[in-house]
Amino acid sequence: MVCDECGSDGLVQSYTFQYGNKAGSKQEGAYKRVSVRVGGQKTVNICSKCLGKYRRNQSFKGLILVGIAVALIIASQQFNTTASNELGDFMGIAGLLGGLWAGSNYWSAFTGNTYDLGISLAIAKHKPDLMKQGYDYFVWDKKK
Ligand SMILES: [Zn+2]
Repeated sequence: MVCDECGSDGLVQSYTFQYGNKAGSKQEGAYKRVSVRVGGQKTVNICSKCLGKYRRNQSFKGLILVGIAVALIIASQQFNTTASNELGDFMGIAGLLGGLWAGSNYWSAFTGNTYDLGISLAIAKHKPDLMKQGYDYFVWDKKK
């Protein structure tokens, strides 16, 4: 088996996801059951090297977002010393929430299990094309 990304035949694993459209959703107690009209499925073969590269890439993006959030928080502290308290508070809260969100994304890219990462790379690779074909919902089996 050969990697779809780089063409090498090292440690390659297949990642399969299904694509389709959301047909409807129903509230069942605490859960929301979503029904999906499946359009088809795609399998992407990715080697461990490309997956590692993707993981670093995603982690780096997360790190930048955390940096922006921290900058917002610091800037908001400076606003607090002046009259525009509300803007400062808003920036502080936005920075904090953004930081939490980016941080958890960063953390999952950094520590997340390889299978989830491979699926997300496989979907990212095909998403623009599939969206053009009108598909907007992507599902996959949680574990392998
Ligand atoms: Zn590869």
